[in-house]
Amino acid sequence: MLAVAFQGPERVEVVEKPGPELLAPDDAIVRVTASGVCGSDLHIYHGRVQVAPGFTLGHEYVGEVLAAGDAVSSVAVGDRVLGTFHVACGTCWFCRAGQFHKCDHGRTFGHGAGLGDLQGTQAELTLVPHANLTLRRVPDGLSDDVALFAGDVMGTGYHAIQGAGMRPGDSVAVLGLGPVGLCAVQVALAAGAAHVIAIDTVEDRLAMARGFGAHAVHLTEEDPRAAAKALTEGRGVDVAVEAVGDARALDLAIRLTRKCGTVSIIGVYAERTEVHMGLAWIKSLNLVGGQANVIAHLDPVLALLASGRLDPGPLVTHHLPLADAAHAYEIYDRREALKIVLTP
Ligand SMILES: [Zn+2]
Ligand SMILES: [Zn+2]
Repeated sequence: MLAVAFQGPERVEVVEKPGPELLAPDDAIVRVTASGVCGSDLHIYHGRVQVAPGFTLGHEYVGEVLAAGDAVSSVAVGDRVLGTFHVACGTCWFCRAGQFHKCDHGRTFGHGAGLGDLQGTQAELTLVPHANLTLRRVPDGLSDDVALFAGDVMGTGYHAIQGAGMRPGDSVAVLGLGPVGLCAVQVALAAGAAHVIAIDTVEDRLAMARGFGAHAVHLTEEDPRAAAKALTEGRGVDVAVEAVGDARALDLAIRLTRKCGTVSIIGVYAERTEVHMGLAWIKSLNLVGGQANVIAHLDPVLALLASGRLDPGPLVTHHLPLADAAHAYEIYDRREALKIVLTP
């Protein structure tokens, strides 16, 4: 089979590899029909996340079940399926508590030995462990492009809003309009937000958020704090979503949020970060954050996608053959694409 293999910083290559085999009774093998290129793939591409040369990348996927072990009951051979970016055992303490994202035996597709040694999905075939938890049938009528958001990007946008306890009528600010931020904008609006203020510096992304129904605010050419005040009688927003993973964005999120409001930190942090804790404390803010529990959100997110209430279709800016993956990574790295879908 063909697979996209990491070779070294800024170097990926499409290589021929042996196909996967079922290893456990609850494994499935999926013939991939679409796989996304994601912002977290770029961390590997740049060498910030260590992955051995030759490891297959990718963790967003839609496809058809080609084979399934005896213990797989929720999907069957021939089913069109989508899956989550990581797998969970279903039996450890955290899984029993429904906190699948913190599974003691969790493994992430395409992230090397450090995250469970699970080969990625930018390939013609992929091995899916714990298929009963990881995979779902794609609802009829849902395109590959839309379905592949359920297991990662839209699940993360959903987590940002749901985890913040957003209520209908709330005002929400979303800082950073990458794919996750734009999905959070859609989820907030679908959940009944009265106002969504969408903040970025890229005009195309602001325009897309505006098209979804948000108040688009340019970070530097306009005044996000004034916009938040104007829409909330001076209080500030009920929920601010930090979808960048940067101290300046987090600082602004803290400033935009009203007293006793919630800052939802979905941007990725790996290092020590300085925040104005005094401000967060005096405002009695709730700070929530961390990786999204996409397995827990999979069914509601799929239902919202199938109903059309959420539609990330416009985020897909490029389709490329899997064989052109090196080019896909180059243009994604230059930020010329929002979401690239690779088709084997
Ligand atoms: Zn992803
Ligand atoms: Zn577990």
